Amino acid sequence: MALRFYNTLSQQVEEFSPARDNTVRMYTCGPTVYDFAHIGNFRTFTFVDLLRKCLRANGFLLDHVMNITDVDDKIIRNAVAQHKSLDDYTAVYTKAFLEDCDTLRLERPERLVPATAHIDDMVAAIERLTAGSHTYTSDGSTYFRIATFPGYGKLSHNDFSGNLAGARVDVDEYEKADARDFALWKAPKEGEPAWQTPIGPGRPGWHIECSVMAIKYLGDTLDLHAGGVDLVFPHHENEIAQSESLTGKPFARFWLHAEFLMVEGQKMSKSLGNYFTLRDVVAKGHSPEAIRYLLASVPYRKQLNFTFDGLKSAATAIDRLRNFKLRLESESYPEGLNEQLAGRTAAAVEAFGNSLNDDLNTAEALAAVFEYVRDANSAMDSGEFRGGNAAPALAFLDRFDSIFKVLQPTVVANEILDSEVESMIAERAAAKKSKNFARADQIREQLLEQGIILEDTKSGVRWKRK
Ligand SMILES: [Zn+2]
Repeated sequence: MALRFYNTLSQQVEEFSPARDNTVRMYTCGPTVYDFAHIGNFRTFTFVDLLRKCLRANGFLLDHVMNITDVDDKIIRNAVAQHKSLDDYTAVYTKAFLEDCDTLRLERPERLVPATAHIDDMVAAIERLTAGSHTYTSDGSTYFRIATFPGYGKLSHNDFSGNLAGARVDVDEYEKADARDFALWKAPKEGEPAWQTPIGPGRPGWHIECSVMAIKYLGDTLDLHAGGVDLVFPHHENEIAQSESLTGKPFARFWLHAEFLMVEGQKMSKSLGNYFTLRDVVAKGHSPEAIRYLLASVPYRKQLNFTFDGLKSAATAIDRLRNFKLRLESESYPEGLNEQLAGRTAAAVEAFGNSLNDDLNTAEALAAVFEYVRDANSAMDSGEFRGGNAAPALAFLDRFDSIFKVLQPTVVANEILDSEVESMIAERAAAKKSKNFARADQIREQLLEQGIILEDTKSGVRWKRK
């Protein structure tokens, strides 16, 4: 099945391929680095990671740009309050974001671009919009006049007729369904840091950074633009208005949006106490693989209900796959090939690929994997599995893991090494021999705290990780 996506712009499922050569020119909205990113943010970033992998699985090359929003109202407010420069303030959260991406095994885009490195480009774009009569200034700030862009509303499918004139906003946070002229350039308030530019002192608004960096690196028309569903309006609508006013061409051919994440059935919020950063969830003892699996398991256009029970089920699901893999690699099977099972394997591989190509239907793709694992396990149990069936089964698991990336356990940084365990066991044996049982018990306790279980057997001490 050819790759197809639901396009927010057309409100249809459409077959996807890049417009020029074999490279997908894509832009996805990145983090605002004013704090640690939460699991709702990572739902979207995990979706983007799956999207990249599925595009590549279809033979496409990628040129993917993601912005780092390192200047906005909240960043300025916090940096000023902490007497830090913007750079010093955002560096901490940019680094944390990249570490979190590594934790979740998210690939880096080909270009990761900070907004503050492109101020000159943004100023030049605003000057061009002004030359085209799309802007006006007020109190030193420059606004985009929405009434000059007749296509406004075509992405969010909101009807803004009669709601466009006059009013304007200069904050980065908007009320829903509130169409107002938006700030392209904001004059500094008292005590705020500012760039000195030909259009006056100040800083860029949030929307202009994405338009400018997308066009700069990818050209006037992108193949694909993606982000969270909360960005459809006003952010992406405003990106379209600015970009198309600048170039006179369609800004992006495909728009993909990932739905919200709920926590235990409720909207995540600090006041409800159900607001979690990725770090919070990992600190509760959940593995990054389980978190990644849970975030990936629900198709991106469905709301995802993040629950701690769901995380445990995710860990169990991963264990089933790891055990299956171990069985394939360690057990021996009679020679030959079970033809029926070989056909079953091929069908499962095809179902897996087709499900992903069907607008990234990860739930169906996972169902194809687990139904196959169940059948293959029972073929092993009944002695019908043959040596020739092992390699295709392992290849299917590899294929699965090239997208889902959960089979390798995360190595915990402070985990005790095998050699350290062995030397402590030797020390314990020596302590026992010299009848220092208190020390021997102490070592056993110490190892247990680090997740190492000792078993005294006739043939010596065996140990395993908890
Ligand atoms: Zn954006």
